[in-house]
Amino acid sequence: MSIIRITKEFKFEMAHALKGYIGPCKNIHGHSYELFVTVKGEPVNNPGSSDNGMVIDFKLLKGIVRENIIDLYDHALVLHKDSAALINDESRELYGKLITVDYQPTSENLLIYFAEVLKQKLPENVILHSLFLRETVTSFAEWYAEDNN
Ligand SMILES: [Zn+2]
Repeated sequence: MSIIRITKEFKFEMAHALKGYIGPCKNIHGHSYELFVTVKGEPVNNPGSSDNGMVIDFKLLKGIVRENIIDLYDHALVLHKDSAALINDESRELYGKLITVDYQPTSENLLIYFAEVLKQKLPENVILHSLFLRETVTSFAEWYAEDNN
């Protein structure tokens, strides 16, 4: 039996603001994020199955990540709930796709949240190994299952 890791890459555009941060990231601004989702498992050994030889069909993995993360966060503004409370009904439309969270929306905290979501949505035989989130050309954060057991 061999355990194999496979990775699917995603891109999304997202705006955020860091409440209380001393620096320009306290202002609403956006990033072109890159998310790498790495899962591991034993390739299916069932010649009669469509996913024979696969840890998980890339198409299935793509669907799970798109549905639960990318489609929600792409072109969204993500704000801490205390910041979002400052947006009144009249200006609400201007902010369109607004997601309020109860954590500071840094790459680190987004990864913690994304990991929890994906762990619940992946098939039982597929383990979430790691997440990589690139925020800028020179900055990224990583979540590893082995660090968080
Ligand atoms: Zn930022």
